Amino acid sequence: MSEFKNFIEDIIDGDLASGKVSEVYTRFPPEPNGYLHIGHAKSLCINFGIKAKYGGKCNLRFDDTNPSKEDVEYVESIKEDIRWLGFSWDKLLYASDYFDVMFDCAVKLIKKGLAYVSDETADEIRERRGTLYEPGIESPYRNRSAEENLKLFFEMRDGVYADGAKVLRAKIDMASPNLNMRDPVIYRVLHAAHHNTGDKWCIYPMYDFAHPIEDAYEGITHSICTLEFEDHRPLYDWVVRECEFPDPLPQQIEFARLNITNTIMSKRYLKKLVDEGKVMGWDDPRMPTLSGIRRRGYPPEAIRDFCERIGVSKANSEVQSSYLESCVRDYLNRTANRVMAVFDPLKVVLTNYDGAETLQVENNGNAETITYRSVPFSKEIYIDRSDFELVPPPKYYRLKPDGYVRLKGAYIIHCDEALTDGDGNVTELRCSVVPNSKSGEDVSGMKVKGVIQWVDAATCADVTVRKLQSLLTDAVDGVTDFNERFNADSMQIVQAKTEQSLLLAKVGDRFQFMRVGYYVLDRDSKGKNLVFNEIVSLKDSFNPAK
Ligand code: ATP
Ligand code: MG
Repeated sequence: MSEFKNFIEDIIDGDLASGKVSEVYTRFPPEPNGYLHIGHAKSLCINFGIKAKYGGKCNLRFDDTNPSKEDVEYVESIKEDIRWLGFSWDKLLYASDYFDVMFDCAVKLIKKGLAYVSDETADEIRERRGTLYEPGIESPYRNRSAEENLKLFFEMRDGVYADGAKVLRAKIDMASPNLNMRDPVIYRVLHAAHHNTGDKWCIYPMYDFAHPIEDAYEGITHSICTLEFEDHRPLYDWVVRECEFPDPLPQQIEFARLNITNTIMSKRYLKKLVDEGKVMGWDDPRMPTLSGIRRRGYPPEAIRDFCERIGVSKANSEVQSSYLESCVRDYLNRTANRVMAVFDPLKVVLTNYDGAETLQVENNGNAETITYRSVPFSKEIYIDRSDFELVPPPKYYRLKPDGYVRLKGAYIIHCDEALTDGDGNVTELRCSVVPNSKSGEDVSGMKVKGVIQWVDAATCADVTVRKLQSLLTDAVDGVTDFNERFNADSMQIVQAKTEQSLLLAKVGDRFQFMRVGYYVLDRDSKGKNLVFNEIVSLKDSFNPAK
């Protein structure tokens, strides 16, 4: 965690210093209408980061006040994703648990003359709302008495009215320069069953009324949300004040949401991709959902590091996707074991080598403690076709006719002969092992510049690899529709041969395929049929100057 404070932490420091709050309490309030995505990770890192930094608390609260869309699958996935990121919540709550509290708050407002039942249609309310330049027009129902409002509100609750026939509006100020303060609707009639409360309610609170009550009721001190709620803050403050919650009242603080180039941050569109079968599901490794990213092999540590590095600000901006990849690469470079894989195999016969042996090859030279694994070696091996040139350019350090190269973790070999087919394509190499050149005990006296990966033909595994790209093609001026940017070639399936040790890998294990990239074992692997997802390439394309 960084020692630098962001603007939210500055506010919290001030509140602690002034004695306004004695303990810091935050919450993460997802709507269970989809899976969490990388944007949510930023909000999670902020809220749970504050909990950790200040020894405070953070609740997970499902914002399920909207009865139509919620789904148990989403609730479970959200919990799993938060745990996976490494966070643990204090209380697990549902906004719908507060429907009684919210109802009581509405009654309180009515009794105080601060809310009224209106018979206007949604269109009438919109038309009378005014604009930024003109005040709104008062509702013809604005001056109903408290008794009448109470009676009507109870009738709304008791199912007397059809959907849309009546709403409860806060009575604030139809001339307010802030449109959200022009008598906003706070309750609506909706005859819909709710997954938590069943048929108990046929009226439901609006978000702007429900959210501040949830925060205040739970004792949240700092309610952190994204910038689009900035204009709603006066209403938030009005609700907690007029509902007479005790001090300290929760304070809403807004920050800029995370946007990443070529990355979809809309649950609605992600759901569309799933529903239309354009991806393998919410956890497709190309999806920017946390479950997709997890399956893609992105480590949670790298995501937290990314969120820390991009920081928290009030200015909207777009982060390059290569920056996230670069955080992932940094982490994997330190932690992932190196293994050998060959994507385009070219057979090499070692004419002067008979028998077989098991080599001990270093897993990761960057690790704090160096470990080794067993790699079988025998007379026939495969190297990558791209590591041999019949007619090499100058300064070519890989294998060429009459040239030398080191096989990683094994021997130096010399290319004696390249066999070709009728069209001149290389079909096989005949090589000899240089005596006394074994890695770690090399006394051959030879210096070779090239080191290449290889796999043992007798024991290697045949694996399937998914090469992955963004689901969106690069932005083109004027194209705003994600559908037009959908990258139909975002997943390519290729075959590869890997060293035998990978047959022992577990789903989720991450590796560096030497000189190729980082890969993770996917859950679609069955027995010896391994499936790997590409995590990131080896080369960093992030350019901080851009
Ligand atoms: P979507 O528009 O994708 O449905 P949402 O904002 O409606 O997202 P919620 O479930 O309401 O999703 O979000 C839970 C929390 O995550 C909120 O506090 C929200 O502000 C925050 N959040 C959502 N998207 C982002 C983002 N791109 N960057 C930072 N925070 C985000
Ligand atoms: Mg939302």
